[in-house]
Amino acid sequence: MSEDLERKIKVLERKLRLFEEAMHQTTVLRKKYDEARKSLKSMNTQLEQKVVERTQKVEDERQYLQAVINSVENPILVIKEDYSVDLMNSSLYKKIDFSLVKDVNNPKCYEVSYGRSTPCHHDNHPCLLQKVLATKKHEKSVHMYFDKNDEKHYVERSASPLFDKENRCIGIIESANDVTEYLEVQDELREQKSVLDFQAHHDALTGLPNRLLFNDRLNQSIEKAKRNKEGLAVFFIDLDRFKEINDSLGHKSGDIVLQEVSSRITSIIRKEDTVSRLGGDEFTILMTELNRAQDASLLAQKILDVLSEPIKIEKNTLYVSSSIGISLFPQDDTDAQNLLKYADAAMYKAKAEGRNNFQFYSSEMTQMAFEHVAMEASLRQGVDNGEFIVYYQPQIDGESGQFLGMEALVRWNHPTLGMVYPLKFIPLAEEIGLIIALDRFVMKTAMKQIVEWYAKGLSPGVMALNLSMKQLHQKDFMDVVKNMLEETQCKPEWIELEVTESNIMTNPEDTIKLLHQLTDIGIKLAIDDFGTGYSSLSYLSRLPIDKLKIDKSFIQELPFHQEDVAITRAVIALSKSLNLRVIAEGVETKEQKDFLVANGCKSIQGYFYARAMSYDNLEKMLTATS
Ligand code: C2E
Ligand code: MG
Ligand code: MG
Repeated sequence: MSEDLERKIKVLERKLRLFEEAMHQTTVLRKKYDEARKSLKSMNTQLEQKVVERTQKVEDERQYLQAVINSVENPILVIKEDYSVDLMNSSLYKKIDFSLVKDVNNPKCYEVSYGRSTPCHHDNHPCLLQKVLATKKHEKSVHMYFDKNDEKHYVERSASPLFDKENRCIGIIESANDVTEYLEVQDELREQKSVLDFQAHHDALTGLPNRLLFNDRLNQSIEKAKRNKEGLAVFFIDLDRFKEINDSLGHKSGDIVLQEVSSRITSIIRKEDTVSRLGGDEFTILMTELNRAQDASLLAQKILDVLSEPIKIEKNTLYVSSSIGISLFPQDDTDAQNLLKYADAAMYKAKAEGRNNFQFYSSEMTQMAFEHVAMEASLRQGVDNGEFIVYYQPQIDGESGQFLGMEALVRWNHPTLGMVYPLKFIPLAEEIGLIIALDRFVMKTAMKQIVEWYAKGLSPGVMALNLSMKQLHQKDFMDVVKNMLEETQCKPEWIELEVTESNIMTNPEDTIKLLHQLTDIGIKLAIDDFGTGYSSLSYLSRLPIDKLKIDKSFIQELPFHQEDVAITRAVIALSKSLNLRVIAEGVETKEQKDFLVANGCKSIQGYFYARAMSYDNLEKMLTATS
């Protein structure tokens, strides 16, 4: 064998060995591959098995959740964040008819609507779902709706946000509860409670507050009165001889009388006052915001009057009178129980005084009240009976002695008291409104009188009349004045109206307007009692006045009292600078007159020349000077 062949055989043998090696390795790899494939296949089968198991588990859990939700009696709803319904229980349909509808205010959002109702249609019903999404908190609301049968229901909705593991809000769970019955029961209970409350605090027969409520209000009012520095009055009213009515006509009639008494008293007290029945024939009144004790006596008199009106029960006409005791806070006491005790004691005093009257706990108060009440009755009667007369006080030029005019001053010629002066009755007449009739009478009498004097060829000058504010503020006042001028043929320039300074300054704006209406028709105006009323100088320059009348209190001690001298001089200077005339009243001595004239105030009114006198005396004076 050639070397060449041998070498070739060796090469071939090496190649064969390499090939066999490669073959061997391929077989090994193949084996490994088969093994790997096998293992992957088995893993896949296992995974598939797991997925199936998981899916089953989720489905089971969902079914379990649905079963749980279904087992709950109340409607439950699970909504996803996109407002799609995820879960809900079937009882929802049976119990409460509901739907998810677009919110009327915000169409991108949905809201649960129950029965026939529009969600979010008014402010006090905010959309619950939106609220939960916004706050991410549990929220509640009560929602009214009508069911298919048009019956009203209330549903209490309760909604909470649902979160995932990353704490992201993924939906809402809402449950609802029909609380109609519960609310109805609550209403009923509340009503029963208020009935019981009323019964506990009121008298069954008359419906008036009872002792308990009265005491409560009295205590509260005392506290309020202390804070506001006001007064109050406690009345104790006892019917006279009520026992006789009960004994003779029976309790039924007695009850009717008590009811009638209760409604009569209620009809005359103010709504802020309290009337109560303590029991039997005893009533009490709490009068609050009392500024003057006289107001208590006015009310007491009104009660006596209203209760003494006959009461008709079937065929019987009964006359019931009452005795009233009054105690005052803070004068008599500041303690509620003591005030009641004192009013009771005063009531016994009224019984002892012969019944059908009222008494204050303090005897001075009773005295004052009687004078006031008697005076009021007598004043009204006096106007009706023409007991008032007009006196005239001359006004004289202190330099020349010439007659300038006069002031009309009213007098009361009382049948038993004799001549009564205005300071005794004008404040009361103002208070009870009688001043209007009185001033109209004075005005008409004085107008007639001055016309008569001019007609007789005398020179009475100007007639000054005092004008009450009440009169000026009457709606028909201007018409009354114009009619009177026309009727009596009195010229407006013969009349001067005096208004007191303090009166003008209480309500200057309105008063200025009214006063202008008077000057527009030619009537002159004077400010009376000047210097006593704290005039504002700015108002003074705007008033359509003609004259200042220096108050007599500054004149009395002239020319010796330094301050009065200074004030009088200042008023005279003021009148000059405002281009007003000036007159002094209450001039009694020559020194006073001389001082005034020397300082530029020539018009004088006062006892130095003459007192106020009757028309015939004044006529004599006029005749002598004309
Ligand atoms: P007045 O308008 O300031 O009247 C002046 C008062 O001073 C009058 O008192 C008069 O008699 C009194 N008097 C006059 N000269 C003297 C004097 O030299 N010395 C003293 N000490 N007093 C003098 P009178 O008549 O008692 O009137 C008092 C007040 O009653 C009047 O004050 C006036 O405000 C009011 N008045 C009088 N009559 C009426 C009226 O008819 N209607 C209205 N609304 N008020 C009237
Ligand atoms: Mg006057
Ligand atoms: Mg005066």
